[in-house]
Amino acid sequence: MFSARPFPAGSEVLRVHDPLYTSRAKSHAHLTALGYTHAQIFQVAQDAFIPPIDAPDDFTNHSCEPNCGLRVSSDGFAMISIRDIAANDELTYDYSTHQEHPLEDMMCNCGAPRCRGVVRSFSRLPKALQQYYLDLDIVADFAARAAKD
Ligand SMILES: [Zn+2]
Repeated sequence: MFSARPFPAGSEVLRVHDPLYTSRAKSHAHLTALGYTHAQIFQVAQDAFIPPIDAPDDFTNHSCEPNCGLRVSSDGFAMISIRDIAANDELTYDYSTHQEHPLEDMMCNCGAPRCRGVVRSFSRLPKALQQYYLDLDIVADFAARAAKD
């Protein structure tokens, strides 16, 4: 997904309002049995994942040096720019900010200079990177809690 216009850091780039958003979630085992893979499902609680629902986040790629973050609530989510974004930039977020599951690691070749090589659970990120994302308020509650334990 690409930006249609520039956004300064801290802007709401996109908001999806869906009263049923998190109620669509199923367990990891349920969705993988149906054939869904890591890149298709989105974690919203400890063992609750949303399958593709034709929302814009279905098409947002991961980056280890993202320009956006997500703030999720029970009725949808907002995508927030965490850096200045130019028109036609690819919008990305760090999947690890909404990931806390042992079976969800994924190889990464996002091409960022500081690419970590693997997308892992938030609790397994370097502490300084965790804090950077926490300070931006773009970490899922379940992931932030797991990192504190
Ligand atoms: Zn990467």
